[in-house]
Amino acid sequence: MPLPFALDHVNVWLIGNATDDLMIVDTGIDSAATCDLWQQLLSATGRTPGHLLITHYHPDHIGLASWFQSQHAQLPVTMSQLEFDQAKAAFEATDEEFAGAQAAWYREHGMPDDLLHKMAAEGNSYRQIVAGLPQVDNIVKAGDSLTAGGYKWQVITGGGHAPEQITLYSEAINVLIAADQILPRITPNISLNWYKNRLDPLADFLGSFANYDSLPADALVLPSHGLPFTGLHERLGQLRDHHDERLDRLRQSIQKPVTAHQLLPLLFQRELDPRQMMFAMGECLAHLRYLENQGEIMATTSGGIIRYQTN
Ligand SMILES: [Zn+2]
Repeated sequence: MPLPFALDHVNVWLIGNATDDLMIVDTGIDSAATCDLWQQLLSATGRTPGHLLITHYHPDHIGLASWFQSQHAQLPVTMSQLEFDQAKAAFEATDEEFAGAQAAWYREHGMPDDLLHKMAAEGNSYRQIVAGLPQVDNIVKAGDSLTAGGYKWQVITGGGHAPEQITLYSEAINVLIAADQILPRITPNISLNWYKNRLDPLADFLGSFANYDSLPADALVLPSHGLPFTGLHERLGQLRDHHDERLDRLRQSIQKPVTAHQLLPLLFQRELDPRQMMFAMGECLAHLRYLENQGEIMATTSGGIIRYQTN
């Protein structure tokens, strides 16, 4: 499904066999273009959605869940509890609450006023591309399993990118639906942000890799962005190396107190639009929090501004 961002698409999955209704995994954002595509797609298959599973709360995954339920009465929706809670908090925040909390958070991490004003003008950017909150009938957690397409799928959850993201593995066909937890070319955004409910998202993310250790090396991985691939364990190794390298760069550059905003050029050597700036700040702060929790750096606040420094 198309996305109007630098990352221009999200993958959705339809799982079915000759007899079952389809299980749909993720929806795309709420836009007229995405609704049109879904209608074309479902009429081309001649199939009815029997079940919708939302991997995590981000708009490109949950955006049309409530629209699906308005089109297909009684369509059951499955999520994890923390993802639903996060979606609810983000969706229900007023423009003022959303923008205010966001601005306060970025201001104390050193973002200049002109950028803060641009962000505040956007209001609740989450609700702009999410149609509504779905009625969730089925809450799943790690270790549960479900059936789709005649196959059993094991629920494996992972934190870091989102609090309790659902990924699905079917041993019968050796396929892992990895959502945004494991992506082939780009690295999933790992952000510490003003929701403050994820205290050490990078530790959560790296810790989640153990959940995939026992899967076969030749599993076919279906990511939410980019093409399906094999080489699960190599990719996890590359993701680990990427974060290790960023942590090293930060360690070497925080001899004197600096704000997260001042450290951005060290991690991102390109122009950032406001949306990318939000991801970049979150990513930088996630790495700083990780080093802080490891006891390698400390944060000090003066004049309402938080700065980081090696111990
Ligand atoms: Zn995501």
